[in-house]
Amino acid sequence: MTDDPGSPTGDLLVGEPSAPSGPAGADWAAAVDAVRRLTPDSRVLLICHVNPDGDALGSMLGFGLGLRRLGLRGVQATFPGPPEVPEPFRDLPGLDLLVPAAEAYPDPDLVLCFDAASESRLGDLVDRLAVAAPAVVLDHHASNTGFGDVHLVDAGAAATSVVAEELLTRLDVPLDAEIAECLYVALATDTGSFRFDATTPDVHRMAARLLATGIRPGEISRRIFDTRPFGAVRLYGDVLGRTRLEPAAAGGHGFVWTYATLADLERHEQRPYVLEPLIDSVRCTAEADVSGVLKQIAEDGWAVSLRSKGAVDVSRVAVTLGGGGHRFAAGFTGRGTAQEVVARIRAELDSALTQARERD
Ligand code: 5GP
Ligand code: MN
Repeated sequence: MTDDPGSPTGDLLVGEPSAPSGPAGADWAAAVDAVRRLTPDSRVLLICHVNPDGDALGSMLGFGLGLRRLGLRGVQATFPGPPEVPEPFRDLPGLDLLVPAAEAYPDPDLVLCFDAASESRLGDLVDRLAVAAPAVVLDHHASNTGFGDVHLVDAGAAATSVVAEELLTRLDVPLDAEIAECLYVALATDTGSFRFDATTPDVHRMAARLLATGIRPGEISRRIFDTRPFGAVRLYGDVLGRTRLEPAAAGGHGFVWTYATLADLERHEQRPYVLEPLIDSVRCTAEADVSGVLKQIAEDGWAVSLRSKGAVDVSRVAVTLGGGGHRFAAGFTGRGTAQEVVARIRAELDSALTQARERD
């Protein structure tokens, strides 16, 4: 599950947040206009990022259902890589919109991207951005590279689903229980169940609007956060058992990390997505500000999740190492052995702290 607290800092705990600069009025107008110009059989392609999490799938499917309510019949939703939806999301409404990447329209009339900070997160599907006019980007990563034609990027939003709900409102699509469930899963995922500082009064107001449609938060949360196969429970035992704490790392703020190999997954007969919530069991370590989990994806390739409690901006570390994300939740793909990737993180943590001190 993505632990994706967004950019607001602890200052925002008190009172209303200062208005973050959201998308420009011209971009909202262009997005609304692009949808209004469609005809019932227009080919609309929704794309979210590789290894989709709750926000990627929830914002994309919730918006896709909204387009259907507008009478659009040719809506497809997809993501790069194997067309496998992680088990916790297999009851999401709107899954029938999904098509494997290989079957996605080669020449859609309109493309909308969800929760992807850069084109690299769209894999081979990036070529659809070039053919569709325009390509609308809905996102909330401060590290968003500005790709696409219409930029609905709000780094102050707790989740991409916040942006998706706003666009649905501007399109006069009313919330119903199916749309709301998708957007709620997205919002709950990216706010860590409404625990992170990104959980502003506006987030709770949006949650209230979603809950008012009659969706069941207890049932949804159990499915999304609190259900795991027994094999995954045992796998977590192995992987957490090899966690390392380095109190002197990150300029003395401490770094705690572990790794999970393909062999671990095989031994416990588990799929890679069961490792997504693992970072939450590591980042609770009191003695470390920064935490990391390396998930093996190839012989010498690792999908790395980084988290910070506030002393270090891990998105800087991730961007330097080829990835992206938010101040307190970021990631990248690392090459080499686990020890080599960790050595690079360690070095970048020190360098990020040195740069931060020089700026202050
Ligand atoms: P997670 O650790 O949950 O996979 O991701 C945390 C945050 O970092 C998310 O906002 C995600 O979009 C971002 N992120 C994770 N991996 C990558 C990556 O390889 N590239 C980029 N650009 N962002 C990443
Ligand atoms: Mn997100």
